Amino acid sequence: MQDGKNIIGYDRTRRGSVTFRTINPILNTENDTIFYEATPEEVEQAVTLAHQATHFFGETTHKERAEFLRAIADEIMALGDELITVYCSETGLPEGRAKGERGRTVNQLKLYAGLLDDGSYVEASIDTAKPDRKPIPKEDLRKMMFPLGPVAVFGASNFPLAYSSAGGDTASALAAGCPVIVKGHPMHAGTGNMVSSAIVSAARKSAMPEGVFSHLNSKGHAVGESLVKHPLIKAVGFTGSHGGGRALFNMAAERKEPIPVFAEMGSVNPVVLLPEILKEEKEKWAKTLAGSVTLGSGQFCTNPGIMMGIKGSELDQFSEILANEIMEITPTSMLHPDIAEKYDEGKKMMRAQDGTEVVAEWGEQTQSNTGRQTILKVKASQFRENPKLHQEVFGPFSLLVECVNIEDLERSVALIEGQLTASIIGTADELKGYDFLIGQLRDRVGRLIFNGVPTGVEVCASMQHGGPYPSTTDSRFTAVGEDAIKRWLRPVCFQNCPDALLPVALQNANPLNLLRRVDGSLTHAKI
Ligand code: NAP
Repeated sequence: MQDGKNIIGYDRTRRGSVTFRTINPILNTENDTIFYEATPEEVEQAVTLAHQATHFFGETTHKERAEFLRAIADEIMALGDELITVYCSETGLPEGRAKGERGRTVNQLKLYAGLLDDGSYVEASIDTAKPDRKPIPKEDLRKMMFPLGPVAVFGASNFPLAYSSAGGDTASALAAGCPVIVKGHPMHAGTGNMVSSAIVSAARKSAMPEGVFSHLNSKGHAVGESLVKHPLIKAVGFTGSHGGGRALFNMAAERKEPIPVFAEMGSVNPVVLLPEILKEEKEKWAKTLAGSVTLGSGQFCTNPGIMMGIKGSELDQFSEILANEIMEITPTSMLHPDIAEKYDEGKKMMRAQDGTEVVAEWGEQTQSNTGRQTILKVKASQFRENPKLHQEVFGPFSLLVECVNIEDLERSVALIEGQLTASIIGTADELKGYDFLIGQLRDRVGRLIFNGVPTGVEVCASMQHGGPYPSTTDSRFTAVGEDAIKRWLRPVCFQNCPDALLPVALQNANPLNLLRRVDGSLTHAKI
């Protein structure tokens, strides 16, 4: 049941007078529940509780935290169909997507529980003492990762479950042993409210300290700003616009004690189509790309926003087939009237740029807030001259860049900024001849895709969801998969520490049976 309140530790409060409702974008009407924006006092209370919980929570065993994460997964599933109904009413997304995203959310929680079962994520590293070493004796040095402290997580508009209250940022931070305060996304406050109740219920059942998790409502920047500026917050997780991510990053850098902001901010995910494959498989790739551009009404950070190819009859035919294929797809609702409006503005801006031509555009508005797919094309020379053409248009939009030859293509790729992904589509033989281009793409992305589209992000250890700026604020980390936990950890080294005083992960007997680096070799052995 949604109640519109803030969830602060084990308490549910509505002390403020600023309220808002979510919107059903398909009906274009407000939903019933009234949400109470958190007051400065409520923010303070949530942060204080998180701070108080930090030590106890950080000291919980891997097993206890794994059980907590699994309990959250169970509590989310126990919300049943009501969660799905609320999700759909706030996003316009279909039931299938809601259930799929719930599955991903629950599996992410279990993935981090599994990581805790194994325990090796603490990266225990031991260099034993060598008192007889000449000319200087070697000290006993042992290092492992520790939680950073309270983390502020900004719920993502386009992933109400998998990247919001109990999403990847929260799950990985809780796994790391960091209390979490979520600044809920106002577009899906009801989903956030319900999922957060599930997290708190799991926290109680798992005997976690009060304050290990709080969820604050807000429609406006004040709550988010005060979290990022609060001296007791130690890191931030964010998914959203470049403007929002960069503003929070700057705020965090200007604090007396700067803190890391892991912001994932958008990407145009260029797809390069090589000439030979277009001769053989233009139909296949036109259909696949039409599906990828329109998936989820284009509201994915991995949406293919730019396609590039070599001008000629093959590319012309590809473009024609792409136009036909994409017009076969019925447009669907976008997440919110504001996002739909921004999408229309973005398309208009692109169409107004010199040299852009329409390849395909869905004209009629079938129902409120639909994301009407659009493909434009432009010459590479004009693309290079105009940075506006490199921008993301969040929605079912893509720009086909026509290059006169390979050099023209390479010069254009050289101007593309940091991206989450890039794709290269070519026959096995022709790919061998493009090592320079492949290297160029690799240097700009976190994930390089061969003969595939960027949508569809597998949650696993080898996934990298994070590329050079401006796609994220720190390309060394990923927001998806096991390694996402690394964002919330910092290393501490113990020098000559008595065995009994060491954290168990570093003790000689290796009681947790961790895989550790001991004197340079990876081993489960005792010392
Ligand atoms: P957003 O505007 O960046 O907002 C995300 C969250 O950050 C919201 O909770 C927002 O708070 C907060 N926020 C934004 N700017 C802030 C600031 N200066 N200070 C404090 N808090 C701030 O993103 P969105 O609402 O998800 O969607 C808007 C646009 O972002 C979309 O149209 C799209 O262009 C882009 N987007 C991109 C991706 C991607 O992965 N590429 C994903 C989602 C969105 P309030 O709204 O409550 O003020």
